[in-house]
Amino acid sequence: MSKVARIPGYQSKNPKQNRGIIGDREIRFKCSLQNVILDVLRGRPGWTEVPGPNSQVPAAQQGTRPSNQQTSGLTQTGNQSRPSLQSLPPIPRNSDGDWDFYWCDREWLHQNYDTMFLHEHQKILHFRNHYELTRKNLMVKNLKRLRKQTEREQGKTEAQSFDFYPTTYELPSEYHIFVEEFKKNLGIIWIMKPAAKSQGKGIFLFRRLKDITDWKKGEYQPLSDQTRDVPETYVVQRYIENPLLIGGRKFDVRVYVLVCSYNPLKVWLYRGGFARFSNTRFSLDSIEDTYVHLTNVAVQKNAPDYDPEKGCKWSTQQLRKYLAAKHGVDKVQKMFKAIDNIIIKSLQSVQKIIINDKHCFEMYGYDVLLDDDLKPWLIEINASPSLTASGKEDYDLKFGLISDLLNVLDLENRLTGKEKRIGGWDLLWDDGPIVADDNMDCTPANGAAVSTPNSYLGCFNDRKKQLREIYLTAQSVKKS
Ligand code: ADP
Repeated sequence: MSKVARIPGYQSKNPKQNRGIIGDREIRFKCSLQNVILDVLRGRPGWTEVPGPNSQVPAAQQGTRPSNQQTSGLTQTGNQSRPSLQSLPPIPRNSDGDWDFYWCDREWLHQNYDTMFLHEHQKILHFRNHYELTRKNLMVKNLKRLRKQTEREQGKTEAQSFDFYPTTYELPSEYHIFVEEFKKNLGIIWIMKPAAKSQGKGIFLFRRLKDITDWKKGEYQPLSDQTRDVPETYVVQRYIENPLLIGGRKFDVRVYVLVCSYNPLKVWLYRGGFARFSNTRFSLDSIEDTYVHLTNVAVQKNAPDYDPEKGCKWSTQQLRKYLAAKHGVDKVQKMFKAIDNIIIKSLQSVQKIIINDKHCFEMYGYDVLLDDDLKPWLIEINASPSLTASGKEDYDLKFGLISDLLNVLDLENRLTGKEKRIGGWDLLWDDGPIVADDNMDCTPANGAAVSTPNSYLGCFNDRKKQLREIYLTAQSVKKS
């Protein structure tokens, strides 16, 4: 590691001291993805790759370090301070399952979780039934249930704190209730989304019930698809017709949330993130135009006038600054507080359902849409947010995000376990709300102090400086 990047207390000069709970050996990782995550894992001091059936290391390369060019291709520009991978020791041959950390894909977990035995030290991405929160229909079902329970036990006012997801019905099962609701609100726009798809696939907007009747009989039904014997589950959702626009364009905000435990609920919120803009000016005249209405990068990058150099993203920090200047600090703080509420309430809605396992962790990508009154709406929660970088800035964000996630998990056992902030991650909830130690990390335009929750979404992220400080503190605490 170069001098610039070396974080005192983080990496000991004596390699044996880098091992932590694993004991006197390197931390062995497996990874199913070939993007920024692999660069982070391969570049992490004291960590070594274990090839296996899901590892992307070609057999011919096992036993040698693969070039970092094989992953994101952005390594050279992404983070100048990382060690040269070629200079690291070769990857040892290990049997499958012989790992300490596994960034697996969801399919692998589904196929193997029930039959695998996890050792004390092993950590794996995803909880067994993460789909309770990440399938669009189940997310809403769980939210509706907790909302009802809250209303029963704490009253209507408290239940209003769940007013952050648009009215949603599952189709075809709730078709009749939807039709009743549709008739009460003639003229509004609805959006249809396949419950288990992503990247904007299969989504369409409509105003007339006829459109959905056609859909009911049409291509999405089993009659036209011989491979399916049941209709595909969709959600129909009230379309947010008044999104906040910047430069006339719609956007949504990607927020990263880390859950290390569901019982007790322990939640970290990452400061960085981004806003994804649509490429075309917003208008309700052309509801069939996905380039206007869907902000997914997967959709926008196919727009005829999409400029890959400019992309369609702003950092959340840029967004926060812009909004504070335009709408005032108080309103913006209120909006960010409402995002915290979305995060906590949504996680609580599945807290008793998710199979808690101390070996598992989850990094969620929340998609939040702001309306023109700066009210945030929860659109969806992803269990596998994209970790492919679309440019240097995106690479740096994701590299820091994942490096700090590993710092939070702390397999090296170098921290005290009492930290409220680790790099860019702030502890938002630990069986209850976390209060900030100080309010100065996110000084708004007028210099006024921010709210007291330990929440800094879109705030300044001096992660390396902060890591230096906490590792030094932890070192001296451990010595004493
Ligand atoms: P996917 O999983 O396919 O990405 P999403 O639910 O995230 O599906 O929706 C894709 C995009 O469509 C969102 O990023 C957002 O721009 C837009 N969108 C989805 N639901 C709504 C809604 N209720 N109101 C307004 N825009 C929406």
